[in-house]
Amino acid sequence: MIEVTDVVKTYPLGEGEVVAVDRLSLSVAAGEFVAVVGRSGSGKTTLLNLLAGIDRPTAGTVRVAGAELDGLSESALAGWRGGNVGLVFQFFQLLPTLTVAENVMLPMDFAAKIPAVRRRDRAMELLERVGIGDQAGKLPATLSGGQQQRTAIARALANDPPLLLADEPTGNLDSHTAQAVLDVFADLNAEGRTIVVVSHERDIRTLVNREITLVDGRVVADEGVRA
Ligand code: ADP
Ligand code: MG
Repeated sequence: MIEVTDVVKTYPLGEGEVVAVDRLSLSVAAGEFVAVVGRSGSGKTTLLNLLAGIDRPTAGTVRVAGAELDGLSESALAGWRGGNVGLVFQFFQLLPTLTVAENVMLPMDFAAKIPAVRRRDRAMELLERVGIGDQAGKLPATLSGGQQQRTAIARALANDPPLLLADEPTGNLDSHTAQAVLDVFADLNAEGRTIVVVSHERDIRTLVNREITLVDGRVVADEGVRA
């Protein structure tokens, strides 16, 4: 599902540059549930953005879900992302003027992979699946943080992508709610979806089957954590 080879990502800083990802190689098979951990500034978000094709590497190659991302134009990349990757962020990033159901339908409208007549029913099914079918008609601001993140997960599933990438999805939730949201990811993985989640949650270890630790943009540990 993921094949990252000798990837470097630098950002300009004053006269010099910051090396955010440093000659990193990594492969993730379909069906894995991987946690990426490491201190603030270790390159976790940069890595996820490279996997999503939001950022381009300074050097090295990134292959995700059958595509070599370096070879794709911006518009091809956007099309590829829409159908292949579901993204979940710390601060939900829902559109405040759209209802919960409309937020979930939006990626379907962009990708045009799901027939138009199916989109509302599919949004409802996805909201039921993440446990908030009863919130579909509300505006995001009237939901709890956990419900907003469930909405964002349903939106990430809109086009049935094989890969979910989540950047500190529980970073803005209390620990009880965080656990419930992580359980949703575990269920989605059990159904076969590949998931890479950046998390500070200690309990993440009990859910994932692999934990990758970054220090200064490099992999310093990569271990199986569940039998
Ligand atoms: P993490 O998500 O683990 O906190 P990041 O990937 O956000 O780490 O950042 C890795 C390093 O790259 C940090 O030193 C950060 O300051 C730097 N960095 C990240 N994004 C940018 C950017 N857009 N411009 C300049 N430096 C950046
Ligand atoms: Mg980050």
